[in-house]
Amino acid sequence: MSLLTILTYPEPILRKRARPVETIDGNIEKLVEDMADTMYAAPGIGLAAPQVGESLRIITVDVTEEREGLIVLINPEIISWEGECAGEEGCLSIPDFKEVIPRKKKVVIRGLDISGKEMKIPAEGILAISFQHEIDHLDGMVIIDRISGLKRDLFKKKLKKKIAQQQL
Ligand code: ZN
Repeated sequence: MSLLTILTYPEPILRKRARPVETIDGNIEKLVEDMADTMYAAPGIGLAAPQVGESLRIITVDVTEEREGLIVLINPEIISWEGECAGEEGCLSIPDFKEVIPRKKKVVIRGLDISGKEMKIPAEGILAISFQHEIDHLDGMVIIDRISGLKRDLFKKKLKKKIAQQQL
């Protein structure tokens, strides 16, 4: 088991569109294993590869209370959606920040599992939100991109202050 370092905003890789995985080889398998370990240790309900410094389209998600429902998706995409919802979200890459984020209520996700098999997963509730949150990371987006400009300015001001304090 190895734990990876979770990068935090404003790390530039979090702003980059991640590239698709072309071949699922040993390196990808190892990365996925480490991502799952890192997600569980955090603890978090989802993690995207750019958050651990790999600009690749891979996500791990587990929204179960028992922590036995790991879903790994490679090159995931949302193929259909329905309805609207909004709930409070946090992000492992933006510590100490929570905000209500508008999302699609139901989504169907398509992607590959670790053996390269195509998966199609209908999701709603926290699972649907988690998929949307992690896929945003693959597109270089974080939750602060989905809040109002006013709230975003406030967040950035606070962050600047925090960074300035850390440099003292
Ligand atoms: Zn996140």
